[in-house]
Amino acid sequence: MLKLNIINELPDGLLELASSKEIQQIFDQPTLLNLQGKQQKPLFISVLLHANEDTGFLAVQKLLKKYQGKELPRSLSIFFGNIAASKEGVRRLHGQPDYNRVWPGTEHPECDETHLMQDVVNEVAKQKPFASVDVHNNTGKNPHYGCINSLEDEFLYLAALFSRIVVFFETPKGVQSMAMSKLCPAITLECGLPHLPHGIEHATDFLDTVLHLEDLNTTHLNKNDIDVFQTVARVTVPKSCTFSFTEESADILFDSKLDSLNFSELKEETVFGQIQNADKACLEAWDDHEQVVSNNYFTNKNNQIVLSKPMMPAMLTLDENIIRQDCLCYLMERMDMTQQFK
Ligand SMILES: [Zn+2]
Repeated sequence: MLKLNIINELPDGLLELASSKEIQQIFDQPTLLNLQGKQQKPLFISVLLHANEDTGFLAVQKLLKKYQGKELPRSLSIFFGNIAASKEGVRRLHGQPDYNRVWPGTEHPECDETHLMQDVVNEVAKQKPFASVDVHNNTGKNPHYGCINSLEDEFLYLAALFSRIVVFFETPKGVQSMAMSKLCPAITLECGLPHLPHGIEHATDFLDTVLHLEDLNTTHLNKNDIDVFQTVARVTVPKSCTFSFTEESADILFDSKLDSLNFSELKEETVFGQIQNADKACLEAWDDHEQVVSNNYFTNKNNQIVLSKPMMPAMLTLDENIIRQDCLCYLMERMDMTQQFK
């Protein structure tokens, strides 16, 4: 039975674990760890919502080691998410829902995991959080960037502290940052591939910086220092259609370096893949309301799937499991700063 474990002291051994795969030695359930600091309102951090994405866990270890035996500048509240899947080092176990799609506001039917995340939010809400950070990795070649679900100055300021690249999105629902944005400025960090020292260091430095902020003083926000992109579509491969990065017999043969297109502003007619079977081979694009809008973005030309207008993709991956479980990529448009911002 899934149950939220709440503890108020750093457990022995947590900082000494060599890998997040060993976390079951310390916690047997998803755990909220509350630690007192000088400033009362906690920084809320969640890690391992996707259990193979270990950068957040390793960054939290590094941060807590730094403050061992010292007073934290601000209270911390850390949620260790998918404990059960951590041992296997997979995003989620078979039969589990995605731990970053079941937070309040989700469209997922009620289940143990939706109750768990509601409990987490209720607990953190009591403590009047200062800010919320959810740490993730992705699989393709992507720069580090922050995702936000509100364009208020405090959210942009938080995002600007992490990266020049900021992604604003309204779907999928049920993600941690969207639930937390009702309580405080909230951000999802995308720290590139798991386990890399550069990502761990970047996340640790960011968390430490936020920990030291007295307030989110947005007078220091320079909107010229950030590029804000809005997700407009999620792209999937229809179940009936086979695809590959190597097998020419597949309905769609994707370019083996497709992920090098991430965060490039692509021209109309940029090729995504070669098609074998023109009747079956297509990509599906979904808008924020889960409506199919494929024709707005893709067209078939000379046995190739090409963009029908200029777009910027993110999270293009070469991982066939992720493409089947989640999606091929997201398509984004640059937001017009002069319209959005004062
Ligand atoms: Zn993730």
